[in-house]
Amino acid sequence: MKDRFEREIDYLRISITDRCNLRCRYCMPEGCDKVSMSQILTYEEIRRICRIAARLGIRKIRITGGEPFVRLGCTDLIRTIKRTEGIASVTVTTNGQNLVQYIDELKAAGIDGINISLDTLDPDRYAYITGGGSLDKTLQSIDLAVEAGIRTKVNCLIQKDFNEDEIFRLAGFAFRKGIDLRFIELMPIGIADPSQGISNEWILGMLRKNWPDLEKDNRKHGSGPAVYYLRPGIPGGIGLISAIHNSFCAGCNRIRLTSQGQIKPCLCYDGGIDLKPYLKRPDQELETALKEAILQKPEGHCFTTRRYGSEEHRLMSQIGG
Ligand code: SAM
Ligand code: SF4
Repeated sequence: MKDRFEREIDYLRISITDRCNLRCRYCMPEGCDKVSMSQILTYEEIRRICRIAARLGIRKIRITGGEPFVRLGCTDLIRTIKRTEGIASVTVTTNGQNLVQYIDELKAAGIDGINISLDTLDPDRYAYITGGGSLDKTLQSIDLAVEAGIRTKVNCLIQKDFNEDEIFRLAGFAFRKGIDLRFIELMPIGIADPSQGISNEWILGMLRKNWPDLEKDNRKHGSGPAVYYLRPGIPGGIGLISAIHNSFCAGCNRIRLTSQGQIKPCLCYDGGIDLKPYLKRPDQELETALKEAILQKPEGHCFTTRRYGSEEHRLMSQIGG
């Protein structure tokens, strides 16, 4: 359905857990509170919300977290959502730490794409930023997903004085592997420190110095707001998700469902509609609540205008990114 600003809302991102097997410093560092399992939506509730969302025109679903694969039965959930009438695409975002064991099941489930987060190609840095993660495991996951023929993208967050010296290496990795790598601007959500963010404009300028043949690609590479750049004859592309420095709100097509059942119309604000009470009521009432959440979607985010950058106080791991 369309929101108040004539945007077609056809994309729902679902955080199925706020738990994670990593402790990324900008997302969920050591010591963050976890929500108890009893507060988290059951898979049956998530399936029901997907069914009703499809009636309102949601066509694409992304499963995220926390780390979705730390919740048992994640691949089964994906398989069943994929069969929901009206749902055209189901994708997942993961840190890739334990993806290897699920690749076959995901392929069999008909997954439409996997985004794997990777901020560095240096094993020590990887362990530092993720609080002990293994770079090898994530690299192996990327290779296996590509080999399995699943559309694979890499998400990369560049931060000042940490990994900006790796942009060429990371872009080269995407060109070599023939996959898309997206640089995501750091958003002032949860505990992320906005002063650590780097603009994608700067990244593009640097990449162009190294690869003057980089050209903007006007074709769509997915359902998101990334703007892509390609090198002639090279299969992998560079995507820029410039949430801060080049707001893409006018074309925003998404809403989010938190692990605890709140529909968030915009990543920036902590408002929205809690679907939990409606889960005890008939489908029609749940549908009306979902509709209302879409109609509450603001015209744009407030990352650059608010004193503290954003009004969202939860961690990114609770919202799903
Ligand atoms: N655990 C999975 C993963 O890491 O891919 C899925 C959830 S994670 C919250 C989804 C994405 O959000 C990751 O690519 C992560 O880098 C990104 N992210 C986390 N905090 C962010 C922030 N403050 N600004 C921008 N992206 C962020
Ligand atoms: Fe976990 Fe993903 Fe957050 Fe890192 S970015 S702590 S992997 S949820």
